[in-house]
Amino acid sequence: MTGVLLALNAGSSSLKFALYDASSLTPLCRGAAAALGAKGQAAHFSAQGSAAEPLAAGAALAPDIDHEGAARWLIERIGARLPELELAVVGHRVVHGGAEFSSPVRVTPEILARLEAYIPLAPGHQPHNLAPIHSLLASRPDLPQIACFDTAFHRTQPRVAQLFPLPRAFAERGVLRYGFHGLSYQFIAQELRRLLPERAQGRVIVAHLGHGASLCAMRGLESVATTMGFTALDGLMMGSRSGAIDPGLLLHLILQEGLSALAVHKLLYDESGLLGVSGISDDLRALEADGSPVAEEAMALFAYRAAREIGSLASALGGLDCLVFTAGIGENSPTMRARICGYLGYLGVALDDAANARGALSIGAGAAEVLVVATNEEAVIAEAARGLWREGAAGR
Ligand code: ADP
Repeated sequence: MTGVLLALNAGSSSLKFALYDASSLTPLCRGAAAALGAKGQAAHFSAQGSAAEPLAAGAALAPDIDHEGAARWLIERIGARLPELELAVVGHRVVHGGAEFSSPVRVTPEILARLEAYIPLAPGHQPHNLAPIHSLLASRPDLPQIACFDTAFHRTQPRVAQLFPLPRAFAERGVLRYGFHGLSYQFIAQELRRLLPERAQGRVIVAHLGHGASLCAMRGLESVATTMGFTALDGLMMGSRSGAIDPGLLLHLILQEGLSALAVHKLLYDESGLLGVSGISDDLRALEADGSPVAEEAMALFAYRAAREIGSLASALGGLDCLVFTAGIGENSPTMRARICGYLGYLGVALDDAANARGALSIGAGAAEVLVVATNEEAVIAEAARGLWREGAAGR
């Protein structure tokens, strides 16, 4: 029997996973259950890698399955289809660890209760992250489960980067800028340490542009500022989230237009961003294919907002040595990279158009390095989960 490590990465509508040999961290397969809870689209499953065939062959998810159901289905299927493997440890992405969790932790019922307190701060993610932990704690209490936090990477930020200009009492009860996408930023930081050992110690901005989107400013490969804040709604325009908007507009929507708080929530999380401005899709690929004036305007606004926020982070850093694009849009859309970089000549950013078009690792032609680096949140989860699993085994 081979002991295996399962890394689970629950996003708003998908459950990505990766399976590794728990001792060597050799990847066995990776994949996703997608369109979970999506309206008008049935959930579906895909997997790639050496152990993928038995998992994916004939796989049919219930069309309306949720994250918890998909996790249970996957774990049962691993047991049934890959009988030579034994699940030794599960690592989970958990979006919010608040100010108290700055490194990965083995989840006990007591820790789970503390993590549940953060659900209101990340309503689109935290429940999906915690549901599989909950059901596995009940069904397999001895199976080590490790929580890895998206907020943890940003705990190095100076206090000014974490404070809101609100009365002090708010900060004292935890109303701070936490920042998210930390597992992705941690992976990119590790890659940069390898790729550009000296330059990457300087002023780096990483643009994680996926359905959710944010930027992280790093110095010495530690986070010093980020565009998401108390929630994952702040900062950049996203697939269906607004990003930063005038806070007075929220007051206007509630007080003058009479929208309920729940209606504002739905508007800002689910109906805005690329989807809201285009009225077509939250998916950049669909907008690039559409090319109509409204699709064009949505893409132009996405690039403009990203460029403005890059300027803001460059101010926090005092300049820019290296800009890194990652995640679905950052890794795959030369057009969006070019639109954004078009604003940034004053920071030493210029593109090598041919390198950009083919998605080369290094696409810059100016004083600042510009890189395209594929992110891998599951690898960060796996590394951390193996570390705590081994410590636990050694402590017994
Ligand atoms: P998340 O993990 O946040 O759900 P992803 O990192 O998978 O999201 O990014 C999804 C986004 O990436 C979508 O807007 C999608 O259109 C975009 N994307 C993926 N591939 C391409 C591509 N080849 N060209 C343009 N956009 C792409």
